[in-house]
Amino acid sequence: MIMTIDNYKFAGKKAIVRVDFNVPLDENGVITDDTRIRGALPTLQHILNEGGALIIMSHMGKPKGKVNAKFSLSQIVDAVSKALGTKVMFAPDCAKAKEQADALKPGEVLMLENLRFYAEEEGKPVGIEKEDPAYDEAKKAMKASQKEFAKTLASYADCYVNDAFGTAHRKHASTAVIADYFDADNKMLGYLMEKEVQAVENILNNIKRPFTAIMGGSKVSTKIGIIENLMNKVDNLILCGGMTYTFAKAQGGHVGNSICEDDKLDLALDIIAQAKAKGVNLVLGTDSVCGDKFANDAKQLVCPSGAIPDGWEGLDAGPESRKAFAKAIEGAKTILWNGPAGVFEFDNFTGGSKAIAEAVAKATDEGAYSLIGGGDSVACVNKFGMADRVSYISTGGGALLEAIEGKVLPGVAAIKGE
Ligand code: AMP
Repeated sequence: MIMTIDNYKFAGKKAIVRVDFNVPLDENGVITDDTRIRGALPTLQHILNEGGALIIMSHMGKPKGKVNAKFSLSQIVDAVSKALGTKVMFAPDCAKAKEQADALKPGEVLMLENLRFYAEEEGKPVGIEKEDPAYDEAKKAMKASQKEFAKTLASYADCYVNDAFGTAHRKHASTAVIADYFDADNKMLGYLMEKEVQAVENILNNIKRPFTAIMGGSKVSTKIGIIENLMNKVDNLILCGGMTYTFAKAQGGHVGNSICEDDKLDLALDIIAQAKAKGVNLVLGTDSVCGDKFANDAKQLVCPSGAIPDGWEGLDAGPESRKAFAKAIEGAKTILWNGPAGVFEFDNFTGGSKAIAEAVAKATDEGAYSLIGGGDSVACVNKFGMADRVSYISTGGGALLEAIEGKVLPGVAAIKGE
């Protein structure tokens, strides 16, 4: 049986919980966005309410295996304490916290210092290049000490909960290796992880049709794995944003100064052919709002995406494209959106992304399941104030994209044994 956080009896137990408290801080160490802390609260509060004791662990930033005060989790202890409504104790060395962990009583909370102050967390050898003949040996030694590190963390608690979706695609000591030191009845996913895994499941394996996927952003190359996986699942595939111009050029168009991957023209033609062969309705932006420079105050020109004059670049989807996008979203029952349809950071070039956001919100009102994920598209729906009009906004960037590509996430596999 797979243990769940709702089944487990936390009373009198110590739970070590991997969260993603990699929150942005300003120069004074003040948290500028506490979404990640709020995201973990249901799991943490549940464990405390059930009479468990909490050991919270996380990474912050990229200290690369070295102690660095800039990335110390001590800076967020007060914020976590406030959010949880209870005192949070701090262990200044995550690998030397056994005594503090042993002393914990039900209802008490201990937060460990940044796991990435130890190179063992990520398990990559430091100070040696891959080309070095001694690299393989160093890697082997590091893997062995990573296991020891994970075992130490595991020794603090009776059970392990992983609620850090943002790092679920990494096989790190605290996200995956640690799970080997707990038997199946004593390890589980937290609420946030469960929700994320379910959201991906809805998109990949529990599809209500028609299914429309919207992929935007800057480049085809970074999205190709996902596009190919989705090609086998969707009814409508909208490809927009900077990718538009690689497709336009591949089909013989002229794209002026637009962002374009010249080494991906064949790939673009292949995607068009695959869509045709699989009966997928591929929707590409036929017209664009162009600028005479990459700036919000650029002069504007609307023209076909394959006939952009020299000196101009496509920065947003044009009116015809917006209509076509909305049509492919209308009536959809499953929707996935990743990546904006234009340079939405410039207020004068948000129209395409806004048209998509509105169509997605409308379809959701009419019963569609909509998942928005991957950094920028989340920023987009937030910018347009539509976050509460979609079904689910994923907290995971890379983890979500890898999951949608169909890859097994080590953080999930370590618990579910897949
Ligand atoms: P990605 O990280 O690949 O999802 O790309 C997101 C970025 O793509 C955003 O910062 C957008 O500004 C950018 N983007 C979208 N459309 C365009 C475009 N037509 N030209 C240049 N950048 C774009």
